[in-house]
Amino acid sequence: MARQKFIAGNWKMNTTKAVAVELAKGIAKAAPAGVATGIAPPFVYLDAVAQAISGSGVLLGAQDVYFEKSGAFTGEISVDMLKDLGVKFVLAGHSERRHVLMESSELTAKKADAIYAGGLILIHCVGEKLEERDGNQTLEVVQAQLNELTAKMDDPDRLVIAYEPVWAIGTGRTATDAQAQEVHAFIRQAIAKMWNPDFADRVRIQYGGSMKPDNAKGLLGQPDVDGGLIGGAALKADSFLAIVNAGL
Ligand code: PEP
Repeated sequence: MARQKFIAGNWKMNTTKAVAVELAKGIAKAAPAGVATGIAPPFVYLDAVAQAISGSGVLLGAQDVYFEKSGAFTGEISVDMLKDLGVKFVLAGHSERRHVLMESSELTAKKADAIYAGGLILIHCVGEKLEERDGNQTLEVVQAQLNELTAKMDDPDRLVIAYEPVWAIGTGRTATDAQAQEVHAFIRQAIAKMWNPDFADRVRIQYGGSMKPDNAKGLLGQPDVDGGLIGGAALKADSFLAIVNAGL
């Protein structure tokens, strides 16, 4: 079945409030209707960005969340707080959280569970490090990260997998179209086994890792590549929109 492409921008720890609002307005003004488009600004700008994109079809996203509902968790943000601001999707397991902030697989699993259980779209990020690819462990690593998804999920529109090879994130080095397709097809088969083939057929699998306007068409043209999770190129409206338009 045809899956609508989903392109999401992850702004990471970038922008100022003024830049975030301007960027959000530029994207909201020109995002085409045929592609699901989302942006995930830093937490502190979510409210301002929500207002900037209000009335457009652009989805508001968050880069992270804590799994508990409320309580003594200094510095943390809950799913309900994000929903209060109009957030529609949240990332779990981004490679920077796994490998820079040293978040464990157990913590990632709890966050993923809380995002889905809270009624939001979960973008669950998976991907191997360079030494794991060189050691032919890519599929094993990706399967282990998919196994973090233990919750009962019955809405394929609210589960998105982002395949992001760690060696391609922010490095300017991109997986080839064939490398991306190979892992995406594996992910879809794995989801079919974990849930069922109909569910797997509807789940969107994004590619992330130095996706740019000049390589987006090739990657997005692969049968199992249903969108992109974009870092660097999401920080300028024209490059982000060029990628979004490549998904039409
Ligand atoms: C990311 O951080 O999810 C990402 C894909 O970054 P970049 O596009 O900069 O490689």
